[in-house]
Amino acid sequence: MKIIIATQNPHKVEEIKEIAKLFHFCGAEFLPMDKNLNFDPVEDGETFEENSFIKAAEANRLSGEYTLADDSGLCVEALEGAPGIHSARYAETPQKRIDKLLDALKNIENRKAKFVCAMTLVGPEGDVLFTTRGECRGEITLSQSGTHGFGYDPVFRVKGSEKTMADMTEDEKNRISHRSLALQKVFEYLKTIK
Ligand code: IMP
Repeated sequence: MKIIIATQNPHKVEEIKEIAKLFHFCGAEFLPMDKNLNFDPVEDGETFEENSFIKAAEANRLSGEYTLADDSGLCVEALEGAPGIHSARYAETPQKRIDKLLDALKNIENRKAKFVCAMTLVGPEGDVLFTTRGECRGEITLSQSGTHGFGYDPVFRVKGSEKTMADMTEDEKNRISHRSLALQKVFEYLKTIK
C-alpha cells in the first residue's frame, strides 16, 4: 500500500520513514507529495485534528491516493494551551519563538507542557479511515539545551528524563515523541486493513 504524506516538508517524510523502521513497520510505503500538484492547503481549523484533516483531505483531492497528514504543536499549561495550533507562527523565527515562550513563563512556577500530534488517514475515495493523537508530556526549561531536533526542542524537557528533546538523538526522540506515538497507532490500524 502506498500512502502519500500530506506535507511540503521533505524532512517530515524522512522522519515518518525513520519511525516506521524503528518500529519494524513495513506494511506501507510512505511517499512525498508530487511537487507538481501545488499542495497548499489553508490550515484554518481550530484544533490539531481539524488541521490534520484539512491537509489529508486536500492531498487526497489532488492525488486520489491514500494520504496521511499530521498537525502538531506545543501546549503550555500556564499559558492555557498556547501556543497550540499557532506554534509555527508564535513569533517570526524559531529562536524568537523560544525567546517569546521563555519570556511568557518568566517567574511562572508551573512549567508543565505537552507536545501534541494529531494524524488523519484518508482513503482513496476521500473518506476518513482513521484519526488519532499522540501526546508527549514534559516541562519548559529555564534555558535552552541541546543541538538536535527543531522548533521548541531545546526548551522542552521530557517527563521522566533529564534531557530536553534537543539533547536526545534522533532515535531517542523517535521512540517517545508525540509524532511517534500517533504514528504507532496508525501502524496498528494499517495492520488491520492489510
Ligand atoms: P507541524 O504541524 O508539524 O508543522 O508543527 C507546527 C509547529 O509546532 C512547528 O513549526 C514547531 O514550532 C512545533 N513543533 C511540532 N512538533 C515539534 C517537535 O517535535 N519539536 C519541536 N517543535 C515542534
